[in-house]
Amino acid sequence: MVAEFIFVGTELLLGNIVNTNGAFLAEKCAGLGLSCYFQTVVGDNEGRLSETLERAMDRSDVVILSGGLGPTEDDLTKETAAKVCGRKLTMHEPSREMLKHFFERRGMELTENNWKQAMMPEGAIVLDNPNGTAPGLIIETEKSKVILLPGPPNELCPMFEANVAPYLADLTSQVICSRTVKICGVGESKAETVVKDLIDAQTNPTLATYAKTGEVHIRVTASAENSEKAERLIDPLVRELKDRFGRAVYTTEDETDLETAVVRLLADAGLTLACAESCTGGLLSGRIINVPGVSEVYKAGFVTYANEAKMSQLGVSKDTLDRYGAVSAETAEEMAAGAARAAGTDAALSVTGIAGPDGGTAEKPAGLVYIGCRVRENVTVRKYRFSGSRRKVRESAVAAALTLLRECILEAVEI
Ligand code: ATP
Repeated sequence: MVAEFIFVGTELLLGNIVNTNGAFLAEKCAGLGLSCYFQTVVGDNEGRLSETLERAMDRSDVVILSGGLGPTEDDLTKETAAKVCGRKLTMHEPSREMLKHFFERRGMELTENNWKQAMMPEGAIVLDNPNGTAPGLIIETEKSKVILLPGPPNELCPMFEANVAPYLADLTSQVICSRTVKICGVGESKAETVVKDLIDAQTNPTLATYAKTGEVHIRVTASAENSEKAERLIDPLVRELKDRFGRAVYTTEDETDLETAVVRLLADAGLTLACAESCTGGLLSGRIINVPGVSEVYKAGFVTYANEAKMSQLGVSKDTLDRYGAVSAETAEEMAAGAARAAGTDAALSVTGIAGPDGGTAEKPAGLVYIGCRVRENVTVRKYRFSGSRRKVRESAVAAALTLLRECILEAVEI
């Protein structure tokens, strides 16, 4: 089944707002096993919207529109869709009641144009909007199912999850299940090479790779008559991916992220952790501390940006800093040792680098980062060269530090 999206709004067309609904709907529909070949952004213009919708209905089974459902003059999605689908607009009593209560509860006055929101195309399925005033709509035509959703993401996303996803699943009379194999420490192009033959041969289940900072996620999606059958189709492919990527696979659970996997690993190994950060300035500790229950393993973090702080808080020697510089393997090693000593932990991570965009030299360019990892008496220091903005370099360093810690624990400890 083919789905297509139309995003309505001049703000979107001019780049004033980012089309996050596009990413959301595309990912969700792909997850439901729908094929998506086209996305269009169109301004608040009836003629161009009609033309776009007609074309979409000629080539796609499902057309999802977002935006332009509000009460104002330039909100014309519903009126245009009704016209293109050959439906008259009539007053929808439940929506009218709902609208009345919505305004009464907030002590706001209903204006004449608000009633426009309760006018619905004949025969349409009206979707509740608990987070706003514009209900969603499904118009079923011979050509395609036309689905209208409100523009604000805090309205569109819950409406999609509650009403549209089950509707689409029913249409296909198939259950769609997916599982994500999450991999760290392997670049996107390397990961794609490893699974190229599986992607080329894919039918059901399908396989899609997504690059995240420092990670690659591979989503395996199967459709079948019921979820047991779909899971049974997924199992062998997930096993195959685990075989191919080995220890780089840190989870196959949707709700588990890298920091959660690392914290779990520390807890299972009975290890405690401290962090010493220079260029990441607390970002690493912040990500680790996001994990509920982390107090069992995480003890202290040191943000030691200046050389003086590296010396006074972590005991990095002046000689090391003078001889090799703050951004060096030697400093990273002493920072990790100093953090473990100061916090009395079994393990420590250290990060020192040049986040950029300035401050680099030919010898030590922006993006150069050393990460030290100490697990009991074993120390590993690795050199990285990240690219991108200051923020991207810092986020990449954090992901690399978590990956290195995971690797070192797996090597050092029999779990
Ligand atoms: P409302 O009932 O709030 O008027 P609407 O359905 O008419 O909703 P729009 O007026 O088109 O929606 O957009 C309202 C707001 O929703 C926009 O100002 C923007 O903040 C957000 N929005 C709209 N479309 C998108 C999109 N595709 N991606 C992200 N945000 C969007």
